[in-house]
Amino acid sequence: MENSIEKKFNDEIIKLCDDNNKSSNNSLFTRERYRETIGNVKKAKLSSKKTALQRYFLRQYDILSVAGIEKLIRKGDIFFYYCTVDELYPLIRTAHSGIGHGGIHKTYKELIKQFANISREIIRIFIQMCEQCILRKSRTATTKLVVRPITSTDFNSRCQVDLVDYQSFPDGEYKWIMHYQDHFFLLMGSPHILQSDNGREFTANVITELKHVKLIWPELK
Ligand SMILES: [Zn+2]
Repeated sequence: MENSIEKKFNDEIIKLCDDNNKSSNNSLFTRERYRETIGNVKKAKLSSKKTALQRYFLRQYDILSVAGIEKLIRKGDIFFYYCTVDELYPLIRTAHSGIGHGGIHKTYKELIKQFANISREIIRIFIQMCEQCILRKSRTATTKLVVRPITSTDFNSRCQVDLVDYQSFPDGEYKWIMHYQDHFFLLMGSPHILQSDNGREFTANVITELKHVKLIWPELK
């Protein structure tokens, strides 16, 4: 699932790249454009009679050699790295989960400490697809009811279940992730009681369906 979310994220970013494509202000770098830009900055540095575009490159960018690898950075006293499109997902994931799944602003503040070209729009797309954030949002948005913790005396007497809504970014025919919490998962048959937070996503229809799929939980109440 993780990989397919990353793929969907990258697809969205490529759409953004296409939208911004012809602009020289485009801050999204495919690997190819990243390499080209480094080449252009190097050429501009060497050129004795600089064109307007070369002067622009030199105002905007610099190159830093990190362990023998040339990195594109924003011109200035502090190093801010430009990252390529394929680096965005892992970088944002690390920052976003590092701050406990904070919102767009907090994640952005974390990333601009190091990077020059991760915009709020890109972070918004990421958070929209973040499994944990979707789960939390659906819990708070659907109902103000507090989910009671599982209190049970026996294994399988009561289990808690939640659905994560991926309808906006389906993985083929799959649109939901089910989170299921118990002491043991299905080692000892179906639970006696299935508990959810009554979210609108977890309708009676879904429970009925689970009951009817005899292979899964035929004895479910
Ligand atoms: Zn998140």
